Amino acid sequence: MRTINSSQIEALVRDLFIDANYALPNDVEHLLREASLNETSEVCKNALCGLCDNLELSRKLDVPVCQDTGMAVVFIDLGQDVRIEGMLLDEAVNSGVRKAYEEGYLRKSVVADPLRRVNTNDNTPAIIHLRLVPGENIKITAVPKGFGSENMSRHKMFTPAASEEDILLFIVDTVLKAGSNPCPPVIVGVGIGGNFEYSAYLAKKALIRDVSERHQDVFYARLEEEALKKINMTGIGAQGFGGDITALAVNIETAPTHIAGLPVAVNMGCWVNRHKTGMI
Ligand code: SF4
Repeated sequence: MRTINSSQIEALVRDLFIDANYALPNDVEHLLREASLNETSEVCKNALCGLCDNLELSRKLDVPVCQDTGMAVVFIDLGQDVRIEGMLLDEAVNSGVRKAYEEGYLRKSVVADPLRRVNTNDNTPAIIHLRLVPGENIKITAVPKGFGSENMSRHKMFTPAASEEDILLFIVDTVLKAGSNPCPPVIVGVGIGGNFEYSAYLAKKALIRDVSERHQDVFYARLEEEALKKINMTGIGAQGFGGDITALAVNIETAPTHIAGLPVAVNMGCWVNRHKTGMI
């Protein structure tokens, strides 16, 4: 059994949220730069080059890559041979988020109540997805999720008779309906299976998978490629200016489901598909 003090979790969460907001993951930046070379529409090429310049400037000036510094989503893989001393896990995580948004000069975007809408002024509470795993480590992924893209996400309970084509249509239609709102080029996270809420969790989890990796099952890897091809035929283009590259990647995560249903969730990720992982 390994003992970890909650202050280590707090410090790691703080650093991860600041780092995630100030620099994109390498895999996302690589695809963005590649898109700026391959785009044939002049106006979209300029938009993509502008986004790449934005990344350079945020590095040079030490400012976040986007003004919407997101709602804090945290994925935690907690080794079952870890004992945490000090604060409770969720207190440590929220304290880390509070410090990140205060000390990192990040915009506080969370309201305490969905209808009365008073800002909590520290970007807490975070949404925490906790999973128990074997071992003596804690793996934490910080996801500052912007709502321009989050608002364009969709969910549908298909019947088991739905075909591959029906699901592809739903994914592409979600991107089409979103238009320029999610700040394309987008990364599309898709969760298929599980139940109502688990499919949405899978779609979010899909967004933190390396965009150069395809689903391990070739059937779904092909579906990812097919969905990407169809999305890029919509012609929405970077920032909605009309071009070849609307999405950089489609990541699908899957899980077993009930014989009577087929849940599908599409979580839209914008061009700043921010996330950063650390380990204690
Ligand atoms: S959708 Fe993404 S890129 Fe657009 S404003 Fe929100 S965080 Fe920024």
